Amino acid sequence: MNDCIFCKIRDGVIPSEKVYEDESMFIIRDIEPKAERHFLMIPKRHFKLLSEMTEKDSVTLGKCLKKIPKLNDLLGLSGGYRLVINQGDDAGQTVFHLHVHILTGQKMDFPHL
Ligand code: AMP
Ligand code: ZN
Repeated sequence: MNDCIFCKIRDGVIPSEKVYEDESMFIIRDIEPKAERHFLMIPKRHFKLLSEMTEKDSVTLGKCLKKIPKLNDLLGLSGGYRLVINQGDDAGQTVFHLHVHILTGQKMDFPHL
């Protein structure tokens, strides 16, 4: 049994409003936003970590990332945005299904990396 919350959202077991969806990924609003607008881009295939991906998987992830600026109007990205991928406990990862945070809609008041 797969207890992964993002797999359940992908499969419609947990209801959610998908802001965008294609064959490789979907985008939802983060339930606890840490910026004025906070989305999660979630690849449909379940990977815990980047280290689990093959070279071929990484091509798919690259395509998913390239899609984000194309969704400029839908996500309201024109002022700029920040992408974050937490990996592991020290980074504060809480959901172990690879996802990309999209933070936008404000000046980022947390430190530059
Ligand atoms: P991370 O801490 O990088 O693993 O990010 C997990 C993110 O998923 C957090 O920002 C949570 O607020 C978010 N989250 C957890 N459950 C849900 C949910 N059901 N719908 C939307 N976002 C969620
Ligand atoms: Zn999953």
